[in-house]
Amino acid sequence: SRRSSTAAYFYTEHKYRLMKTLGIGAFSKVKLAVHMPTGQKVAIKIMNRHKMRDMEEKVRRELMVMKLVAHPHVVRLYEVIETPTEICMVMEYVESGDLFDYIVLNGRLSEDESRHFFQQIIAGVDYCHTNRVVHRDLKPENLLLDQERSSIKIADFGLSNIMRDGQFLKSSCGSPNYAAPEVIQRHWYAGPEVDVWSCGVILYAMLCGVLPFDDENISSLYRKIIDCMYMLPSHLSVEARDLITSMLKADPLQRITIAEIRRHPFFQLKLPSYIALP
Ligand code: ADP
Ligand code: MG
Repeated sequence: SRRSSTAAYFYTEHKYRLMKTLGIGAFSKVKLAVHMPTGQKVAIKIMNRHKMRDMEEKVRRELMVMKLVAHPHVVRLYEVIETPTEICMVMEYVESGDLFDYIVLNGRLSEDESRHFFQQIIAGVDYCHTNRVVHRDLKPENLLLDQERSSIKIADFGLSNIMRDGQFLKSSCGSPNYAAPEVIQRHWYAGPEVDVWSCGVILYAMLCGVLPFDDENISSLYRKIIDCMYMLPSHLSVEARDLITSMLKADPLQRITIAEIRRHPFFQLKLPSYIALP
């Protein structure tokens, strides 16, 4: 079968032994693998070339950019391997699941823990924007947690410009719960501000344990997002409230920028020194 020939190829040509499946998408699967000579664990995203059709060159070009991106809070792309039928991304393996499951399991996070993760997310997003890479599909499912669950790594950066949720971008906009109004309305311009919006939704989700915009009915959900209709629970601090409000502005030109986020009191707040971590 193709499955076993891929495994054989990886072993004989690159000395990676394929292990368990970490995730399955519409046209790709992600597998844990071990580089046998060194014992290093990696995650390999295996994408079927046939299903890419005319997007193949674009994917290759985007991956070349992604190989140059190196940041502690962005999942590292080590190398790209092409088999006769697949394009494979050999990535840093991040082992403790995603932020979505973490929130579902633990409920809402404290403001200090939320800020800790938020600062890391913003640092990674800022770095990628500086390198002209916009994510466009930021959501807790794409934020992976490392071993001690103290550090976040952003996954799926780069390719989300071409595809979303394992589907090549056609008409649909993947996860509308996190999508900015201008994405939903398919305005011709959707720049880095779309990531600021999604980070606002993620910050809200961490602090509140629920999503700001949600509805079983998709057109009601779109309406809520476009009208910026959401509620701020009373337990939020003044700083958190203000930051969320500044990030969730329907007009991208009114929305706070990454540079301004970094100067915002919520972002800047440090733990009091008497409970400072070692
Ligand atoms: P898709 O494009 O199909 O959404 P993803 O790149 O999001 O695929 O990967 C699918 C799943 O595989 C993720 O939700 C995650 O559980 C797992 N995964 C992806 N990349 C890694 C990684 N670097 N380390 C560990 N698990 C990963
Ligand atoms: Mg994904």
